[in-house]
Amino acid sequence: MTPPDHRLLLDSIRDYVGQLAEEGLEGLPAPGDRRAAIVPTLLDAAAAAVTNSDARHPCVASPPGTVPEQGGLPRVGRGAVSPRPAMMPGELLSRYPGLEKLASLEELRDFIGDCTRCKLAPLRTNLVFGVGNSEAELMFVGEGPGADEDARGEPFVGRAGQLLTDIIERGMGLRRADVYICNVIKCRPPDNRNPEPDEVAACEPFLMRQIGIVRPRVIVGLGTFAVQALLKVKTPISRLRGAWQDVRGVKMMPTFHPAYLLRNPADKRLVWQDIREVMKELGLEMPGRGRPQ
Ligand code: SF4
Repeated sequence: MTPPDHRLLLDSIRDYVGQLAEEGLEGLPAPGDRRAAIVPTLLDAAAAAVTNSDARHPCVASPPGTVPEQGGLPRVGRGAVSPRPAMMPGELLSRYPGLEKLASLEELRDFIGDCTRCKLAPLRTNLVFGVGNSEAELMFVGEGPGADEDARGEPFVGRAGQLLTDIIERGMGLRRADVYICNVIKCRPPDNRNPEPDEVAACEPFLMRQIGIVRPRVIVGLGTFAVQALLKVKTPISRLRGAWQDVRGVKMMPTFHPAYLLRNPADKRLVWQDIREVMKELGLEMPGRGRPQ
């Protein structure tokens, strides 16, 4: 039988406890003791257990009882959690074995391969993975590829994509290459229909791993479908937009999809309000070149 991967287990525990700490948890009940066991203590105990376990393994040289510098645990607790939290939701760990170990976008793209994990596979021209800076502080997540994106294999390249580029470059003063852009699903649904639940379920782990690898400080959720998929809610975007949400420890600003803005240009002012909040959160200066038209 394959021995358990203790470091993977530890990473999972670290992500989960870090997530709890982000949500405000400062302690857990300790067995036989009514006092709370503080989160860092739990993590230290887990690190020591894994280190001891590794030390018994012939491949690992660390002496028993020590916590390795590399791959060991950071001191995690309220106020000490990294502002760029590690992401790997537990329920996704088991969906595609090996996914959680992937450390780069290149590895993830290779893992996805010529994907046939859902019924959209035979309908696509190109799988649309994502573009941009793999260490971006800002990530935009849309719904799925349209016709232009399907043809070119790149997200947000049609008219709506041009508007998004204007928002990023003229509105925020960034370069498109400075941010990361992707979609909830990677293949175009026929006739641009909304993705179906089984398609989202099949593709969602890839988005979660993308978020986990890039580890943005802020996500902008573009449009009803993307925001509902990220938050697992049915609330309309008109009620969600403009208010910060939490996507597993990462701040997410829901706003309208650029395609909606092409049909409803009067609502650009609302998107601009949302974008200004994002810029404030990221400490970005107004570029002073006017809003995108
Ligand atoms: S939409 Fe996602 S799960 Fe479906 S075939 Fe494309 S990459 Fe695979």
